[in-house]
Amino acid sequence: MRVMRKESSPKKQTVYTEQMETFHRAADLIGMHPRVRLELEEPDFEHIFYVTLDVRDRLVPLHEDDEEAHRFKDLPASSMKAGDALEPIANGDFVLHRRALLNADITVREGVIRIANRGLFKMVKGEPRKFKAYRIQHNQVRGPYKGGVRFHKDVGLDLFKTLAAEMTWKTAIADIPFGGAKGGVRIDPQAYSREEMEHLTLRYMYKLKNLMGPFLDIPAPDVNTNGEIMAIMMRQFTDGQRTPHAFRGVVTGKDVRIGGSEGRLKATGQGVVYCIEEWARDKGFQLPGARVIVQGFGNVGSAAAELLAALGCRIVAVNDANATIHKDDGLDVAALVKYVHENPENLRKTVLGFPGATAIPKADFWNIDADIAIPAALGHEIDGNVAETVKVKLVVEGANGPTTPDGDRVLAMRKIDLIPDIIANAGGVTVSYYEWLQNQRMEHWTEQDVNARLERAIKSNYAIIRDISRDQPAKTVTHDSRRYCIGKTADMRTAAMILALKRIEAHYLLEGFSQ
Ligand code: NAD
Repeated sequence: MRVMRKESSPKKQTVYTEQMETFHRAADLIGMHPRVRLELEEPDFEHIFYVTLDVRDRLVPLHEDDEEAHRFKDLPASSMKAGDALEPIANGDFVLHRRALLNADITVREGVIRIANRGLFKMVKGEPRKFKAYRIQHNQVRGPYKGGVRFHKDVGLDLFKTLAAEMTWKTAIADIPFGGAKGGVRIDPQAYSREEMEHLTLRYMYKLKNLMGPFLDIPAPDVNTNGEIMAIMMRQFTDGQRTPHAFRGVVTGKDVRIGGSEGRLKATGQGVVYCIEEWARDKGFQLPGARVIVQGFGNVGSAAAELLAALGCRIVAVNDANATIHKDDGLDVAALVKYVHENPENLRKTVLGFPGATAIPKADFWNIDADIAIPAALGHEIDGNVAETVKVKLVVEGANGPTTPDGDRVLAMRKIDLIPDIIANAGGVTVSYYEWLQNQRMEHWTEQDVNARLERAIKSNYAIIRDISRDQPAKTVTHDSRRYCIGKTADMRTAAMILALKRIEAHYLLEGFSQ
């Protein structure tokens, strides 16, 4: 059926081409119109640009066992009265605000100072720096571009293309009137202060101002961004507008006090849990007492863990960027959330050092005996090897793209169930849509209202995907899969993509193409 694709010469495999394997498989299965396939194969727009930032002066630690540190053994400690003007950064550096020098008693030798109880530091002068930035707008046939903003050191065009396309599929699966986009900046946020990140965010939005808007492109939080960053983006976008409140919907994931939605903070984790409940209901599996391992304890991982714990599940291990912790009879999730997210001293927001658990090597994480694994960190974590070792019945993709195609094949071979990202983590974008609606209507819905709608939406779309997968067309009071089943069975990932593509294709087929 793929008559229009000229792919005779083998192309280099990238994250994007890998992810598009599912797209092409599903497109083949539904006999997708060749021109629609071409429209969806590549993003509408790829915006690549730079943002610059004035990086502040820094104090960078010199470890006493460094060769260089030897020479400063006898350096007397400096005393800074305005100690709070040394701003700690997650990577161990300090930003040196000038007021730290007021009334200070300082001894500097070759640019090195000693701070009592903290050790030796090298003073490093601030400088302007540039960072590569992206906004990929994949498709808008169903509505304005929609997708998160990620600040991370390992991002690039290929990854953002992949994530933007995922948003197109996800918004269609969630059946909300948005398209797909994604973007962000290649930066390690752990190496910058809050103020520097604010400046970077302002600059990023400044450069994107003409490409964003509540009816054009609507960002949301993703890895290393949150409601605070969304507030800064909104301020930058609405600054100078005559009716700024009319533009609140330019970003979602805002704090509820400034136009955010109740329930948005936990919505992605909540969606993950609604999917798990449906899976459990289908399989006759008892969730109370179920053993769960969670990778990533940020927005998605921590919310999913909290909600599952409330259902009686035992979260037996958590892995994040800095550590892996284990407690066989279940972690105290509320205490862990407090330790990670409500402790200003925990700059890296990590589970590292949590007193209520044992630290184990990351290598041991995936083969812990459990029922459910929730990858909720970055992509490509469950490859063929990991898939060989996991000892669970179900993998639920809280993260975007955590399972490689090899991982998929091995999980399928081992008959381990999988709930794919485009439905499992669609809760976030669904409540983002509710937030956007509330902004347009100047309304404020209760958390109960939001969650009731979210539950209906996730569970009915999940049921449609399950019916497509089993080829069991059905109409019930809560869902109707008759239009989407294709006369043969498919794995859950392909089934989810079939649902997305059928909903997207309808727009092209019914509206036609503008010439
Ligand atoms: P976050 O920044 O709040 O948290 C990320 C977590 O992943 C942190 O705990 C971090 O320590 C951990 N992590 C980072 N690198 C890791 C590594 N190499 N190994 C193990 N853990 C690592 O991010 P988030 O918003 O929770 O997003 C997590 C995933 O969920 C991402 O893939 C994101 O695209 C996806 N997602 C997020 C949302 C949302 O609403 N926030 C919605 C849909 C999908």
